[in-house]
Amino acid sequence: MEQNLIDYEALKKRGFLKSRAAGEFALRTRMPAGNYNSTHLKIVSNIADTYGEGFVHMTVRQGIEIPHIKYADIDNVEFIVKQAGIQLGTSGSRLRATTSCPGNNWCKSGLINTFAFVDALENEHGIICAMDLPHKFKIAVAGCPNLCTRGQSSEIGVFGQVDLKAQDASKRIGYGVYIGGCGGKNPRQGIKLEKVFSQEDLFKVIEKVIEFYRKNAQPKQRLGETIEQFGKHKFLEVIGLELTGY
Ligand code: SF4
Repeated sequence: MEQNLIDYEALKKRGFLKSRAAGEFALRTRMPAGNYNSTHLKIVSNIADTYGEGFVHMTVRQGIEIPHIKYADIDNVEFIVKQAGIQLGTSGSRLRATTSCPGNNWCKSGLINTFAFVDALENEHGIICAMDLPHKFKIAVAGCPNLCTRGQSSEIGVFGQVDLKAQDASKRIGYGVYIGGCGGKNPRQGIKLEKVFSQEDLFKVIEKVIEFYRKNAQPKQRLGETIEQFGKHKFLEVIGLELTGY
C-alpha cells in the first residue's frame, strides 16, 4: 500500500506504531499489571522470529514491543496475538497501559493486592488501556508508599498505605493517591491527597478525575496543566474532595 494511504493513527490505537524504517511497525503488547504467562511469552517469541527480527523490547510500561513488523503482516500478527489472549498496547491521546508492582502478591513491603486493583479498575470500572482522552494519561499502581512504579509522576498514582487514624484495626490498610503528575518535556509531581481511601472511594475519585479531564482539558493538554489552569481548590471541589482541606 502507498505510504500516504496508511492510517497511522488508527494503527497506533491498535498497538502498531510506525517505525523509523519505511513500511515497518513495532507492535506494542500489554497484559494487565504486566503479567505475561509462559504461553504468552512463547507466542511473542514466535511472532518475533516469524514476523520481526528475532528479538523484543521491554517497555517502561511493562509491555513487550515486537519491532520490525511489515505493514502487510499486521492483520495476521494482530489475529495471532488476540487469539493468544495477549492484549494490544497503544500510543497517542489515550489511557496508556496501567503499570503495577507486585504489591502484596509477593513483595514483603506490599500492603495491597495491586493485581486485584488493576483487575477491578479495568473490568469493573472500564478504565482500560486505549480509552480515548484529550492527551496521554497514565495510571501507576504501587503496593506501598515506596511507590516503585513512580506514581508521583503519573496522572494518577495509586499506592497502598496504612491509615494510622483508623479506629478499626481491620480497616487500617487503605489507598493513597497522587493526581496530576507527568513526565515528558514539562515534568511535574502530582498533588498528594492527604487522605487514606477505601478501594471503592478511590475508584469514585478516579472516575471523577477522568470525567473532569474529559470536560475541561484542551486537546493535547496533560491533566496537571488542566488542574493548574482550572485552579487546584476548584478542581478538588469538582471531584468532591473540598472537605479534605487539600
Ligand atoms: S512499591 Fe512497595 S510493594 Fe511495590 S514493589 Fe515497591 S516496595 Fe514492593
